[in-house]
Amino acid sequence: MPEKTLQSIAFPVLNPDQVSQIANCVAVAPRRCRDGETLVAAGDYSFHFFIVNSGEIEILDYSGDEPKTITTHHKGQFTGDISHLTGTRSVFSAIARGDCEVFEISGEGLRHLLNQCPGLSDIILQAFVARRQLLRESPDFIGIRVIGSRYSADTFRIRDFLSRNRVLFTWTDLETDPQVDQLLKEFGVSEADTPVVSCAHSLLLRNPSNQRLADEVGIHHPLDRSVFDLLVVGAGPAGLAAAVYGASEGLKTAVLDSSAPGGQAGSSMRIENYLGFPTGLTGADLTDRATLQANKFGAHLSIPTAATHLSFENGYAMLNAGDAEPITAKCLLIATGAQYRRLEVEGCEQFEGRGVYYAATPAEALFCRGCTAIVVGGGNSAGQAAVFLAGHSSRVLLLIRGGDLNKNMSSYLVNRIEQTGNIELLRNTTIRQLSGNDHLQSIEIVEHASQKARTVETPAVFSFIGATPHTDWLPPEVERDAKGFVRTGPAVAQSPQWHAGRAPFLLETSRRGVFAAGDVRSGSVKRVASAVGEGSMAVQFVHEYLKEM
Ligand SMILES: Cc1cc2nc3c(=O)[nH]c(=O)nc-3n(C[C@H](O)[C@H](O)[C@H](O)COP(=O)(O)OP(=O)(O)OC[C@H]3O[C@@H](n4cnc5c(N)ncnc54)[C@H](O)[C@@H]3O)c2cc1C
Repeated sequence: MPEKTLQSIAFPVLNPDQVSQIANCVAVAPRRCRDGETLVAAGDYSFHFFIVNSGEIEILDYSGDEPKTITTHHKGQFTGDISHLTGTRSVFSAIARGDCEVFEISGEGLRHLLNQCPGLSDIILQAFVARRQLLRESPDFIGIRVIGSRYSADTFRIRDFLSRNRVLFTWTDLETDPQVDQLLKEFGVSEADTPVVSCAHSLLLRNPSNQRLADEVGIHHPLDRSVFDLLVVGAGPAGLAAAVYGASEGLKTAVLDSSAPGGQAGSSMRIENYLGFPTGLTGADLTDRATLQANKFGAHLSIPTAATHLSFENGYAMLNAGDAEPITAKCLLIATGAQYRRLEVEGCEQFEGRGVYYAATPAEALFCRGCTAIVVGGGNSAGQAAVFLAGHSSRVLLLIRGGDLNKNMSSYLVNRIEQTGNIELLRNTTIRQLSGNDHLQSIEIVEHASQKARTVETPAVFSFIGATPHTDWLPPEVERDAKGFVRTGPAVAQSPQWHAGRAPFLLETSRRGVFAAGDVRSGSVKRVASAVGEGSMAVQFVHEYLKEM
């Protein structure tokens, strides 16, 4: 059988039996539309899903200079993309053309359909994923536009936030893009106002905070204030796995994250040791799929929402996140992971986002084209970053404090580094100084045994050293180890904080009904697979605990 093309997966044609199966499942009858009727307007939230019964639906993109037809759906074809499940704004408009008859299905109806009809669910979800991929790969699609300098930390923050949240956008570099002057004039702003964010012909925001940006582009959904069975804090692999298992097993589940779904794994350019993906997958791909899966099962996602304080009332967890009233839950899962420590070099903060980075993705790789990139750290994430950056820069210097790369890095990565001609490993070496004006220009490195120092010209240092857990928001009832990681199971059985007439469950913290999974847990294996495994397992203990309540 010929392999399906991305186009045919993105735009399948349902046969009449499949269309009637859908109509029966969600109990809808066809309705007529006027020629030119707007079925979905770009920017709409909670828009409906349409199947063409006769006539056509034209899909239009208004984000560029001129409106552009993306595709036209005919009989048996359907509208929509992953925004239906993520709850974000529509990026397109859908207009009825000619003598048109459609089946119109609400967001809730679509979710019901996806859960009740597995065969059709596969076709629709694969189409949604493929449509996004085609858009990402399309050189013509603009989406949201960010105008700002490559040397501005705020421009970097905005780009990083949008790309980690998988928002389709185009960056116009103030320093190099020939369109800049005309665009700034069109929006009535000057270089000093940048970074600015625009959509189509209107200016949306000037140097927005991540929260403001999330509200404007429609990725932020506050949680309702009802009681959740399971509240997951952190949407990395552990949190997303718990969301998928919790929601699919009928628990009223919410997940919140302070920045973006995917956590640390979301910034990995190639995860090669995750079971079932022999050729590896990107963290972004894993995140997209996991988020879609959690949404499909009805988990409530709220991003960016940072947990700031946890307390307990009548046996319920009360979580403060943002300014709103606390969120109430019967069980809480701590899945806030860990973060790389700031590079220990004086003045490092001034170069963060302008030469010092804590992730190596295409966004950062742009800055070291044709230059030397510096990677600091001896773990797998540093190894992956070095290999990835070797494909984008002329040379990569990998700096490790110790003398043996094999100590903390998987051997497949050590081999890859040894085989990559433009990666140079510098053992027993650290950075002593960072220099530059408004962005990093050079560093001074020192080799400890000889105390020999030298200056290296570079626009970008990537740091992957010593992770610290995100646990400062937790109350004393939730016991932590000396480094701040959350203790669970046997490690809290004798804790003075533990007050229950039974032994704690394996992933239960010193506070009954509060669990921890993934990198944030004391003694955890810092891997994607173990985080996913723990997040899934935690749901089993949640069920056990709910039976006790
Ligand atoms: C670049 C890189 C490459 C890697 N490559 C691999 C690999 O190839 N294979 C492998 O097995 N492992 C790899 N790892 C390690 C792996 O990614 C982690 O072990 C895994 O992501 C841990 O998952 P987690 O869900 O426990 O935590 P995290 O991934 O750290 O996610 C925690 C989430 O919690 C959120 N959060 C933190 N504080 C708060 C708060 N107060 N309120 C709300 N949300 C909060 C964060 O924003 C984050 O999204 C890599 C790590 C990095 C950084």
